[in-house]
Amino acid sequence: MPTTFNLKSGADLSPRSILIWRIIQIVVWLIGATILTCLLFFPKIGVLLFWNILIPIAPFLFVVAVGVWRNVCPLATTNLLPRHLGLSQRKKLTIKQVGILNLIAVVALYIIVPLRHAIFNNNGIATGIMLIIMAVIGVSLGFIYEWKSAWCSGLCPVHPVEKLYGANVLMSMPNANCDNCQNCVIPCPDSTPNLTPTSATKTIYHRISGWLVVAGLPGFIWGWFNVPDNANSITSINDIVAVYINPLIGFGLSIIAYWFFGKIVGADYEKRLTSIFAAAGVSMYYYYRIPSLLGFGKFNQDGLLVNLNGVIPEWVPQALTLLTTIFFFSWLVVRKPNQASWVIRPRFAEKKSA
Ligand code: SF4
Repeated sequence: MPTTFNLKSGADLSPRSILIWRIIQIVVWLIGATILTCLLFFPKIGVLLFWNILIPIAPFLFVVAVGVWRNVCPLATTNLLPRHLGLSQRKKLTIKQVGILNLIAVVALYIIVPLRHAIFNNNGIATGIMLIIMAVIGVSLGFIYEWKSAWCSGLCPVHPVEKLYGANVLMSMPNANCDNCQNCVIPCPDSTPNLTPTSATKTIYHRISGWLVVAGLPGFIWGWFNVPDNANSITSINDIVAVYINPLIGFGLSIIAYWFFGKIVGADYEKRLTSIFAAAGVSMYYYYRIPSLLGFGKFNQDGLLVNLNGVIPEWVPQALTLLTTIFFFSWLVVRKPNQASWVIRPRFAEKKSA
């Protein structure tokens, strides 16, 4: 008799649930493959689909239901294939090694994102190659390490943002990836309720990576949106360095602000301060991104999805950014932590007897 899924304690998914999630994973994987194909062979369409549709949806999804993304991310589906097919060596990383991977992920995030202005935002082929490189690294790690430990919860540069924004999700999803829990990451970001980047304090690497993303990201986002896309005018290394200046200034100011307010409110209110910085970061993102998607951006056509400038009044995108800001602060700061993890931990694997 099939075991049914139990939302409270976590158990095996029923065969019907597994089938449904597998179908959704395949559909989303095919969408991802289509976007990748467009990036490589029809770069203009690919850039529009990837940078101006998929990526702008992601932060909202992370805030509300990051577990859905964790279940269907096409890169995760690819990387976990060796494990699902029984081809993974299933090695376990130590807590320190996961901490080091988390730190590398945060540094990679801060290095890659400014390069969007210099290369990726206007270059579909470069974006496609970057995604292929990430998939090759992820799959290679999937052949060696257990479940999500090395990539999805380790080296993936998107993972620090998932942890920052996904601290108070709507509800826990079933875990559509891990058949059973091998305790491969401690604490498991998928299975720990109301996890924040600063929750894991096991090693200095965990602490630094958590602090860098919580304290630095809101200012970094502000600085990033104050740099125009200049892929066509990159002629020297100085032009590349230039795209880092504003994000780094914002990052530094943000770190100072977090440290300052942290001193004032003390350790008891650190979680609250973290949620305020998370809300500030995601609100800042949409404060700039919604106008640029609709043709009201600071830098002409940068990040344009559909040009409604002259079609709708200017106050409409402004009102939308006000609404998103109110929403994110209500959701992340005012709303009580609801003890929901991103996904429900599956049944622990039975220990092999000696
Ligand atoms: S649920 Fe268990 S097996 Fe899956 S990623 Fe988390 S710790 Fe690893």
